[in-house]
Amino acid sequence: MDNSPVEGIQHKYKETVLIFPTAGQTCHAYCTFCFRWPQFVGLEDWKFATRESGRFQEYLQQHREVTDVLLTGGDPMTVKTWQLSLYIEPLLAPEFEHVQTIRIGTKSLAYWPYRYVTDADADDLLRLLEKVVQRGKHLAIMGHYEHWKELDTPIAQEAIRRIRSTGAEIRTQAPVVRHINDSAEIWAKMWLLQVRLGCIPYYMFVERQTGAKEYFEIPLVQTWEIYREAMQQVSGLGRTARGPVMSALPGKVTIEGVAEVAGEKVFVLSFLQARDPDWCKRPFFARFDGNATWLSDLQPAFGKDKFFYESQLSELLNMKSL
Ligand code: SF4
Repeated sequence: MDNSPVEGIQHKYKETVLIFPTAGQTCHAYCTFCFRWPQFVGLEDWKFATRESGRFQEYLQQHREVTDVLLTGGDPMTVKTWQLSLYIEPLLAPEFEHVQTIRIGTKSLAYWPYRYVTDADADDLLRLLEKVVQRGKHLAIMGHYEHWKELDTPIAQEAIRRIRSTGAEIRTQAPVVRHINDSAEIWAKMWLLQVRLGCIPYYMFVERQTGAKEYFEIPLVQTWEIYREAMQQVSGLGRTARGPVMSALPGKVTIEGVAEVAGEKVFVLSFLQARDPDWCKRPFFARFDGNATWLSDLQPAFGKDKFFYESQLSELLNMKSL
């Protein structure tokens, strides 16, 4: 904005802006597969955080195309309610009419459900959530659950009940993690339980390229098989989970399936979200590779030397680095 970066926000897709509240750059969990590790360590240059909350508001006012704001971290639900309201309340003013949806990404539903039930400011938090809904915004708590076990306790279920009583939705997401949830049965049981509790399964992610990836990753083809088999075990209401999705450099790439086209075995892929919205939902093809675990392991099919988006992606990245 005005030729200088606005700290602590990321305008990720045309309609979606991520906000990293300063106090929320920590987490109840320190998952060893976390791709947000720079947020937790002392490398200040790598860390994203809003130091001047006024500037992110100004930025959003200028960008009328933004409909969705995602508060993320770390975990924004680690902060006190009054701090959270510094980010949320301004968005309820008429000048942010274009912001229709506020999302909050959090692991707290699994790791600290007391946040919504017995913490000293739990009731204040619920009132804040209620206020957002009453002002006509869609409020979505993006709950990070890897395993049905995380939904199994009375306190976890009470947290869900209380959040839903405010009018907020809970959408759920997680990566497939080897040794933790790499089975269709675990996902099916988790999605069924989530639907019963009133949550909306949203994403099954592919384990990202991060520190301990080798220990936690599984081949893309296996992730896709887990997705398919899990889908077959749930009713339509559980089939809202999109996946398996790689949140990669060019955008969110879904593995639609494995097929044989013109005698070649291929992965069928498509973008759910992309740096250029025009790339979305155009099927594209990669040579089948049973060991590939990430987009960067894949090669274009049918003898092509590039995926359709690659030249434009290089241009976009060059523009950004200028
Ligand atoms: S819960 Fe999410 S943000 Fe927190 S450590 Fe785990 S992966 Fe990272």
